[in-house]
Amino acid sequence: MQKKKILIVEDNEQNLYLETFLLEKQGYDVIQARNGQEGLDTAAAERPDLILLDIQLPVMDGYEVARRLKQSQETQRIPILAVTSYAMAGDREAVLAAGCEGYIEKPIDPDHFAEQVKRFLNAELGKMKSEESGD
Ligand code: MN
Repeated sequence: MQKKKILIVEDNEQNLYLETFLLEKQGYDVIQARNGQEGLDTAAAERPDLILLDIQLPVMDGYEVARRLKQSQETQRIPILAVTSYAMAGDREAVLAAGCEGYIEKPIDPDHFAEQVKRFLNAELGKMKSEESGD
């Protein structure tokens, strides 16, 4: 089976390194972007299977990135999992309203992060399959 490709959009080098390490260890093909615009461009060029999206980003924030990804026919089907330290009430709703399908809180838990991502991705892939077959 071909490796699933995950794009991580994250401006904090430590977080980017840790998330990349954990997902590569799990067998994913990881690509990286360090600001919102780069994330948008990389998503369009690489068509990843999943996007992990930080919200506080330079150039363009994660909310705007999510909105634009969902507005573009090229990228609207790619599931987005927000990874953010915004833990206050209402932030989850804002992330989902911007177009993200899910949400993981920072700081990430290194023991469970890869499993959380895998579970989310498999659930999203399952939804796409049932949409295609008309179930
Ligand atoms: Mn950030």
